[in-house]
Amino acid sequence: MKFLVFIFLLGVFSECSSSPAANNWATIKQTAQIGDSAQSIGSYTAGCLSGAVSLPPNGTGYQLMRPTRNRSYGHPDLIRFIENLAQTMYLQSRGVLLIGDLGQPRGGPTPSGHRSHQTGLDVDIWYLLSQQAETRSLEFNERETWSAPSVLATQSDSIDDSQWSPAHEKILEAAAQSPEVDRIFVNPSVKRLLCTRKSTHDWLRKIRPWWKHDDHFHVRLKCPLNNKNCAGQEPLPVSDGCDASLAWWFSAEAKAEAAKPKKPEPPVLPALCDAVLKAGDPIKSNPSHPGLGQ
Ligand SMILES: [Zn+2]
Repeated sequence: MKFLVFIFLLGVFSECSSSPAANNWATIKQTAQIGDSAQSIGSYTAGCLSGAVSLPPNGTGYQLMRPTRNRSYGHPDLIRFIENLAQTMYLQSRGVLLIGDLGQPRGGPTPSGHRSHQTGLDVDIWYLLSQQAETRSLEFNERETWSAPSVLATQSDSIDDSQWSPAHEKILEAAAQSPEVDRIFVNPSVKRLLCTRKSTHDWLRKIRPWWKHDDHFHVRLKCPLNNKNCAGQEPLPVSDGCDASLAWWFSAEAKAEAAKPKKPEPPVLPALCDAVLKAGDPIKSNPSHPGLGQ
Protein backbone atom coordinates (compact mmCIF):
# COMPACT_ATOMS: atom_id res chain seq x y z
CA MET A 1 0.00 0.00 0.00
CA LYS A 2 2.79 2.39 0.82
CA PHE A 3 3.90 2.21 -2.77
CA LEU A 4 0.52 3.41 -3.96
CA VAL A 5 0.86 6.41 -1.70
CA PHE A 6 4.31 7.00 -3.08
CA ILE A 7 2.96 6.80 -6.62
CA PHE A 8 0.17 9.22 -5.79
CA LEU A 9 2.62 11.72 -4.38
CA LEU A 10 4.99 11.47 -7.26
CA GLY A 11 2.36 11.58 -9.98
CA VAL A 12 2.23 9.25 -12.94
CA PHE A 13 4.35 11.40 -15.15
CA SER A 14 4.45 9.14 -18.15
CA GLU A 15 0.73 9.39 -18.77
CA CYS A 16 -0.54 11.65 -21.46
CA SER A 17 -2.24 14.83 -20.43
CA SER A 18 -3.59 17.77 -22.33
CA SER A 19 -4.39 21.24 -21.09
CA PRO A 20 -4.46 24.77 -22.46
CA ALA A 21 -1.70 25.70 -20.02
CA ALA A 22 0.54 23.00 -21.45
CA ASN A 23 -0.15 24.24 -24.95
CA ASN A 24 1.04 27.73 -24.01
CA TRP A 25 4.43 26.31 -23.16
CA ALA A 26 4.52 23.98 -26.14
CA THR A 27 3.93 26.68 -28.76
CA ILE A 28 6.93 28.78 -27.68
CA LYS A 29 9.92 28.26 -29.94
CA GLN A 30 12.45 30.55 -28.25
CA THR A 31 14.29 30.19 -25.00
CA ALA A 32 14.32 33.03 -22.48
CA GLN A 33 16.46 33.86 -19.51
CA ILE A 34 15.47 35.95 -16.52
CA GLY A 35 18.37 36.66 -14.23
CA ASP A 36 22.08 36.04 -14.63
CA SER A 37 22.24 32.28 -15.00
CA ALA A 38 20.19 29.32 -16.11
CA GLN A 39 17.61 28.33 -13.52
CA SER A 40 15.43 25.29 -13.10
CA ILE A 41 12.33 26.56 -11.34
CA GLY A 42 9.80 24.47 -9.44
CA SER A 43 9.54 20.70 -9.48
CA TYR A 44 10.07 18.10 -12.20
CA THR A 45 6.30 17.80 -12.65
CA ALA A 46 5.33 21.47 -12.06
CA GLY A 47 8.02 23.86 -13.16
CA CYS A 48 9.84 25.65 -15.93
CA LEU A 49 13.29 26.55 -17.17
CA SER A 50 15.02 29.89 -17.62
CA GLY A 51 18.16 29.96 -19.77
CA ALA A 52 17.68 26.68 -21.61
CA VAL A 53 20.19 25.38 -24.13
CA SER A 54 19.30 23.19 -27.11
CA LEU A 55 21.19 19.93 -27.47
CA PRO A 56 22.91 19.99 -30.89
CA PRO A 57 21.52 17.26 -33.19
CA ASN A 58 24.86 15.43 -33.37
CA GLY A 59 27.75 15.04 -30.99
CA THR A 60 30.44 12.52 -30.22
CA GLY A 61 28.61 9.34 -29.33
CA TYR A 62 25.03 10.57 -29.65
CA GLN A 63 22.37 11.67 -32.10
CA LEU A 64 19.20 13.54 -31.27
CA MET A 65 15.94 11.94 -32.38
CA ARG A 66 12.50 13.48 -33.13
CA PRO A 67 13.89 16.90 -34.07
CA THR A 68 10.46 18.39 -34.81
CA ARG A 69 9.08 17.77 -31.32
CA ASN A 70 10.66 20.97 -29.99
CA ARG A 71 11.87 19.12 -26.92
CA SER A 72 15.62 19.31 -27.32
CA TYR A 73 16.07 21.89 -24.55
CA GLY A 74 17.59 21.49 -21.14
CA HIS A 75 19.47 23.14 -18.34
CA PRO A 76 23.13 23.54 -19.38
CA ASP A 77 24.01 20.88 -16.78
CA LEU A 78 21.79 18.40 -18.60
CA ILE A 79 23.36 19.17 -21.97
CA ARG A 80 26.81 18.70 -20.42
CA PHE A 81 25.76 15.44 -18.80
CA ILE A 82 24.46 14.00 -22.10
CA GLU A 83 27.57 15.06 -23.98
CA ASN A 84 29.89 13.61 -21.34
CA LEU A 85 28.02 10.32 -21.04
CA ALA A 86 27.87 9.89 -24.81
CA GLN A 87 31.55 10.67 -25.24
CA THR A 88 32.58 8.29 -22.46
CA MET A 89 30.44 5.47 -23.83
CA TYR A 90 31.69 6.08 -27.34
CA LEU A 91 35.30 5.84 -26.24
CA GLN A 92 34.45 2.54 -24.55
CA SER A 93 32.82 1.27 -27.77
CA ARG A 94 29.37 0.96 -26.20
CA GLY A 95 27.65 2.44 -29.23
CA VAL A 96 25.94 5.70 -30.15
CA LEU A 97 23.21 6.94 -27.80
CA LEU A 98 19.94 7.97 -29.41
CA ILE A 99 18.49 10.82 -27.41
CA GLY A 100 14.72 11.30 -27.14
CA ASP A 101 12.92 14.08 -25.33
CA LEU A 102 14.56 16.61 -23.07
CA GLY A 103 12.27 19.61 -22.47
CA GLN A 104 10.66 22.57 -24.22
CA PRO A 105 12.46 25.90 -24.83
CA ARG A 106 11.17 27.29 -21.54
CA GLY A 107 10.34 23.97 -19.93
CA GLY A 108 6.85 23.76 -18.52
CA PRO A 109 4.18 21.10 -19.01
CA THR A 110 4.03 19.29 -22.32
CA PRO A 111 0.67 18.65 -24.00
CA SER A 112 1.52 14.97 -24.45
CA GLY A 113 3.88 12.25 -23.41
CA HIS A 114 5.17 13.30 -20.01
CA ARG A 115 4.18 14.64 -16.63
CA SER A 116 7.77 15.55 -15.84
CA HIS A 117 10.51 16.96 -18.14
CA GLN A 118 9.40 20.45 -17.03
CA THR A 119 12.55 21.93 -15.50
CA GLY A 120 15.17 20.93 -18.07
CA LEU A 121 16.63 18.19 -15.89
CA ASP A 122 15.04 15.08 -17.48
CA VAL A 123 16.10 13.22 -20.60
CA ASP A 124 14.94 10.03 -22.29
CA ILE A 125 17.63 7.80 -23.82
CA TRP A 126 16.55 5.03 -26.16
CA TYR A 127 17.34 1.36 -25.84
CA LEU A 128 18.57 1.28 -29.40
CA LEU A 129 22.24 1.08 -30.26
CA SER A 130 22.04 1.24 -34.03
CA GLN A 131 25.15 0.31 -35.97
CA GLN A 132 23.99 2.70 -38.67
CA ALA A 133 24.20 5.56 -36.21
CA GLU A 134 27.84 4.66 -35.61
CA THR A 135 28.80 5.20 -39.22
CA ARG A 136 26.69 8.14 -40.35
CA SER A 137 24.43 10.96 -39.32
CA LEU A 138 20.87 9.66 -39.42
CA GLU A 139 18.55 11.26 -41.95
CA PHE A 140 15.80 13.60 -40.86
CA ASN A 141 13.13 11.03 -41.76
CA GLU A 142 14.91 8.32 -39.83
CA ARG A 143 15.03 10.52 -36.76
CA GLU A 144 11.33 11.22 -37.07
CA THR A 145 10.12 7.70 -37.80
CA TRP A 146 12.44 5.23 -36.11
CA SER A 147 11.34 3.85 -32.78
CA ALA A 148 13.30 2.03 -30.17
CA PRO A 149 12.12 -1.55 -29.66
CA SER A 150 10.72 -2.70 -26.34
CA VAL A 151 13.29 -4.70 -24.42
CA LEU A 152 10.48 -6.89 -23.04
CA ALA A 153 9.29 -10.08 -24.68
CA THR A 154 5.73 -9.56 -25.92
CA GLN A 155 3.12 -9.33 -23.18
CA SER A 156 5.45 -10.51 -20.49
CA ASP A 157 7.78 -9.31 -17.79
CA SER A 158 10.77 -11.09 -19.32
CA ILE A 159 13.64 -9.27 -20.94
CA ASP A 160 13.89 -10.02 -24.65
CA ASP A 161 17.49 -11.13 -25.00
CA SER A 162 17.51 -10.26 -28.69
CA GLN A 163 16.86 -6.59 -27.82
CA TRP A 164 18.99 -6.36 -24.71
CA SER A 165 22.69 -5.73 -24.79
CA PRO A 166 25.43 -5.78 -22.15
CA ALA A 167 26.21 -2.27 -23.41
CA HIS A 168 22.85 -1.11 -22.04
CA GLU A 169 23.93 -2.25 -18.58
CA LYS A 170 27.22 -0.39 -18.87
CA ILE A 171 25.45 2.76 -20.02
CA LEU A 172 22.97 2.59 -17.14
CA GLU A 173 25.80 1.98 -14.68
CA ALA A 174 27.83 4.90 -16.00
CA ALA A 175 24.81 7.20 -15.89
CA ALA A 176 23.88 6.13 -12.37
CA GLN A 177 27.41 6.69 -11.15
CA SER A 178 27.43 10.27 -12.37
CA PRO A 179 27.21 12.46 -9.26
CA GLU A 180 24.83 14.94 -10.85
CA VAL A 181 22.25 12.20 -11.55
CA ASP A 182 19.47 11.99 -8.99
CA ARG A 183 17.76 8.86 -10.28
CA ILE A 184 17.03 6.87 -13.43
CA PHE A 185 13.63 5.40 -14.24
CA VAL A 186 13.57 1.99 -15.90
CA ASN A 187 10.99 -0.71 -16.46
CA PRO A 188 10.77 -2.96 -13.37
CA SER A 189 12.03 -5.91 -15.44
CA VAL A 190 15.19 -3.98 -16.27
CA LYS A 191 15.74 -3.23 -12.60
CA ARG A 192 15.20 -6.90 -11.79
CA LEU A 193 17.75 -7.93 -14.38
CA LEU A 194 20.33 -5.53 -12.99
CA CYS A 195 19.66 -6.83 -9.48
CA THR A 196 20.60 -10.35 -10.57
CA ARG A 197 24.04 -9.28 -11.68
CA LYS A 198 26.89 -10.02 -9.34
CA SER A 199 28.59 -6.69 -9.73
CA THR A 200 28.61 -4.18 -6.91
CA HIS A 201 25.22 -2.71 -6.29
CA ASP A 202 25.91 0.70 -4.83
CA TRP A 203 24.80 2.53 -7.97
CA LEU A 204 21.59 0.50 -8.20
CA ARG A 205 19.98 2.77 -5.61
CA LYS A 206 19.52 5.33 -8.33
CA ILE A 207 17.89 2.88 -10.76
CA ARG A 208 14.19 3.15 -9.99
CA PRO A 209 11.42 0.91 -11.33
CA TRP A 210 8.60 2.76 -13.00
CA TRP A 211 5.67 2.18 -15.33
CA LYS A 212 6.40 1.52 -19.00
CA HIS A 213 9.96 2.65 -19.80
CA ASP A 214 10.57 -0.54 -21.73
CA ASP A 215 11.98 1.18 -24.83
CA HIS A 216 13.96 3.92 -23.14
CA PHE A 217 15.34 4.93 -19.79
CA HIS A 218 14.80 8.30 -18.20
CA VAL A 219 17.62 10.15 -16.48
CA ARG A 220 16.79 12.84 -13.95
CA LEU A 221 19.43 15.23 -12.66
CA LYS A 222 19.52 16.75 -9.20
CA CYS A 223 18.75 20.43 -8.82
CA PRO A 224 21.81 22.31 -10.11
CA LEU A 225 23.93 24.28 -7.67
CA ASN A 226 22.63 27.74 -6.85
CA ASN A 227 19.25 27.07 -8.45
CA LYS A 228 17.46 28.18 -5.33
CA ASN A 229 13.97 27.94 -6.81
CA CYS A 230 14.47 24.35 -7.95
CA ALA A 231 12.55 21.77 -5.91
CA GLY A 232 14.25 18.39 -5.66
CA GLN A 233 12.56 15.07 -5.14
CA GLU A 234 12.34 13.10 -1.91
CA PRO A 235 15.63 11.33 -1.08
CA LEU A 236 16.20 7.84 -2.42
CA PRO A 237 15.74 4.89 -0.08
CA VAL A 238 19.00 3.71 1.49
CA SER A 239 18.78 0.19 0.06
CA ASP A 240 19.60 -0.81 -3.49
CA GLY A 241 15.90 -1.52 -4.09
CA CYS A 242 16.44 -5.19 -5.01
CA ASP A 243 13.88 -6.22 -2.40
CA ALA A 244 10.16 -6.43 -1.69
CA SER A 245 9.67 -2.95 -3.09
CA LEU A 246 10.77 -4.31 -6.47
CA ALA A 247 8.65 -7.47 -6.13
CA TRP A 248 5.58 -5.25 -5.73
CA TRP A 249 5.86 -4.11 -9.33
CA PHE A 250 5.16 -7.67 -10.47
CA SER A 251 2.16 -8.14 -8.17
CA ALA A 252 -1.50 -8.26 -9.11
CA GLU A 253 -1.97 -4.98 -7.26
CA ALA A 254 0.57 -3.26 -9.49
CA LYS A 255 -0.95 -4.72 -12.65
CA ALA A 256 -4.38 -3.46 -11.59
CA GLU A 257 -2.92 -0.04 -10.90
CA ALA A 258 -1.29 0.06 -14.33
CA ALA A 259 -4.60 -0.72 -16.01
CA LYS A 260 -6.48 2.14 -14.35
CA PRO A 261 -7.08 5.25 -16.47
CA LYS A 262 -5.13 8.20 -15.10
CA LYS A 263 -6.40 11.76 -15.18
CA PRO A 264 -3.74 13.86 -13.52
CA GLU A 265 -4.66 17.36 -12.45
CA PRO A 266 -2.97 20.16 -14.42
CA PRO A 267 0.14 21.22 -12.51
CA VAL A 268 0.25 24.49 -10.57
CA LEU A 269 3.48 26.19 -11.53
CA PRO A 270 5.48 28.60 -9.33
CA ALA A 271 4.64 32.27 -9.91
CA LEU A 272 8.16 32.83 -11.24
CA CYS A 273 7.29 30.67 -14.24
CA ASP A 274 4.83 33.35 -15.35
CA ALA A 275 7.78 35.66 -15.89
CA VAL A 276 9.61 32.97 -17.85
CA LEU A 277 6.57 32.31 -20.02
CA LYS A 278 6.06 36.00 -20.76
CA ALA A 279 9.70 37.01 -21.19
CA GLY A 280 10.25 38.56 -24.58
CA ASP A 281 13.88 38.35 -25.50
CA PRO A 282 15.40 35.05 -26.45
CA ILE A 283 18.95 34.46 -25.27
CA LYS A 284 21.61 34.20 -27.93
CA SER A 285 22.45 30.53 -27.55
CA ASN A 286 19.40 29.06 -29.19
CA PRO A 287 20.85 26.98 -31.99
CA SER A 288 18.44 25.50 -34.47
CA HIS A 289 19.19 22.10 -35.89
CA PRO A 290 21.87 22.67 -38.50
CA GLY A 291 22.68 19.70 -40.62
CA LEU A 292 19.23 18.15 -40.60
CA GLY A 293 18.07 20.15 -43.59
CA GLN A 294 14.51 20.72 -42.37
ZN1 LIG B 1 11.09 10.67 -19.74
